[in-house]
Order: sequence, then C-alpha cells, then structure tokens
Amino acid sequence: MAIRSVEAIPLTHALQDGQSFGGTRGMTGSRSTTLVRLETDDGTVGWGEAFASPRAVAALVEDVFADAVVGLEPSAAESLAERVYAGEIGGYHVGRQAFTQCALTGVETAMWDIRGKRVGDPIHTLLSGATTDHVVPYASTMYITEWEQDPAEPMEAAKDDGFTAAKIKIGRDLEDDYHRVSVAREILGDDAHLMVDYNGNYTPRQAIESIKAIREFDLTWVEEPVPPENTSGYREIKQHVDVPLAAGESHFGRFEFKKLVDERLVDIIQPNLGQCGGFAEARFLAKLAVTENVLVRPHVWNSGVGTAAALQFAASVPSYPHAPDMAPEPVLFEFDRSENPLRQEILETPFDIADGELSVPQEPGLGITVDEDRLEEYRISA
Ligand SMILES: [Mg+2]
Repeated sequence: MAIRSVEAIPLTHALQDGQSFGGTRGMTGSRSTTLVRLETDDGTVGWGEAFASPRAVAALVEDVFADAVVGLEPSAAESLAERVYAGEIGGYHVGRQAFTQCALTGVETAMWDIRGKRVGDPIHTLLSGATTDHVVPYASTMYITEWEQDPAEPMEAAKDDGFTAAKIKIGRDLEDDYHRVSVAREILGDDAHLMVDYNGNYTPRQAIESIKAIREFDLTWVEEPVPPENTSGYREIKQHVDVPLAAGESHFGRFEFKKLVDERLVDIIQPNLGQCGGFAEARFLAKLAVTENVLVRPHVWNSGVGTAAALQFAASVPSYPHAPDMAPEPVLFEFDRSENPLRQEILETPFDIADGELSVPQEPGLGITVDEDRLEEYRISA
C-alpha cells in the first residue's frame, strides 16, 4: 500500500470588512491554511494540515516533499522528520526552518492517517498504546477585535455553550490586562481554569509588571508573555513571578523545544499539529517534556483537519508523573471560538463539545471524514 499521489490544497476564507480580529501582534482578515491529501495505490486517502501561508507551503509540499514520499509505505512517517533534519528531504540548510516544518507536518500527518486506517486504530492509540475517550476543551476567546466589543460578551457565550475553561487575549496595556482578566474570572467562576495569552507583545519588564497585577486571578498558565525568540526574557520572568509559563506555537523544530524544556524556560509546551513536524515529532517532544515534568498542551488554531490531529495527539500525551490512582492534570484542549468555516464546515461531523467535554474520535486514523466538495469553495489557485 505505497503512496502514489501527493496533493496540496491551499484554502482561504476572507472575513468581512471590519471583522478582523486576533491578538496583540496583529489582526487577521482571513483564515487560511493548506491541506495535504495523500492517496495510496489501493485508493486509501490520508489527510494532514500544513498551517502556514497557503500558496507558499503548498508549493513546498508539491515541489519538495511529493517526490520524496511517492512510492513509500505510510510507516515511513516514523523517520520523515529525521530525513528532513538530515537534509535528505528539502536540503541541509532549511530543514529546521518554519515553512519546511509546516510542510513536513502536513505530509507526515496524512501518512499517519493512512497508517491508522490500515490497522483500524485511531492515531492516539497507535502513538500511546492507550485509549482516551475525551479531553477538557477550553474556549480560546476574548480576542482583540477590530470592532467595538464588550469583553464580557464572548466569555458569557462560551460559558453558555458549556465551556468550563478559557483562554483570553491580553497584552495591550496593564490597565486593560487587569480589566479583561477580572471580567473573565468573574464570569467563569473561581474554580474554572483561566489562561492568558500575550502573543509575545511585552518586554520582560512589562510582562513581569502585568503578571504581578493579574496573578491574584489564579491563572492556570501565562502564554507567550514575551516574543518566542526572547529566551533570556522567559528566564527573567521566571525569576520574578511564580506562575506557569507556556509557549510553543511559534517555536519550530526539536532543538528549540529542547531548549525550552532543558532550561525550564516554560512549564507547558504547546506544539501545533500543523507546524511541529508531525505526529512522530510531536510524540518525541512530548516524551522530552514529560521526562522533565513539563506539561504538553497543543496549540490549536487550525482547520478541522489540524484540530483532529491535535486532538489525537493530546489524547496520546503521557500523564507522567501521575500514578494511575492519582487524578492527573486535566488535558486542556484549545477550542477556537472564532468564526472559521475551515474548521466548522469541511468535516462531515464537525467537532463540538457536550457537557464541557470534547470526545476523541475512535474511528481509524484521524477519525474524520473530509467533505471534499466543501473544500472547493475555499480553494485558491496554487
Ligand atoms: Mg497563543
């Protein structure tokens, strides 16, 4: 059952004028990604997502990766990242770089989807040997919006929809940070998990001042207080405030993650399953992290395909150091609450929460069925 074709499908959905939103590092006026569709010689189809500028990463998938994987068995996914690092695929100089990692992720994920379909198991079982039924979704909400919005509205909507945990955007100024966090905590209640995300907008000094002001609100983690490349800033923050730090959505390659873990720059790593190198690489990162008691909570701002991949990965993460008779930390799973038809419309059964839980698909592979007709509505020319 060798791979016979590789297709990259760049997708975009433009938001209406005035509806841009995002974090402190800028607004997005569209939702875009690239899906990767592999087909084997017996007609089995596998899907993956390369979460990067769609035309650019699509070209990389088709120009560089297609030749390397056509003719391979899907089990070759196990060593695909190493072949990229070694320069065998893509060339020595760019293997560690972001776009190469994104392209690798899309292709590698699709190979795992096929592996799962071949043996009849969901990917999280292939990765971990265990079965996980559900995770705890947290609402990713209270974005910075181009339009005027009362920050209470999206949080109340998330609570009404059953979310028991949430992450909000802050990082514009200290007064605004305090106001937004206090609004969120008031609505969610004292027992809920609440996280904040600065999207790297502060200097270490600003971040320390902000975190000291809001830490009374009992934050489960503080995400990207300073830019991803500012490793000395993470170190400085850790010296001054005692809150769990998280990062990883803007880190690429195992060497950057290893630095985060080894130097204990963060308490939680957040690989994205559209960017981090694929399932084998994500499993490697997870083992690296849990060995040092660093938690693993994937970053998810993807289409339905990347969300499915992140969910399978999250369901596979070891609960170490917790023994079976001890309640482990809940696997909090990011659930983007913003409008995105690439998440909501391209799967035959979109992800939804029930009773504050998100079910992990138990069907083979990613456990999803992609609506290929629907994809065509968002496809852009390569
Ligand atoms: Mg973030």
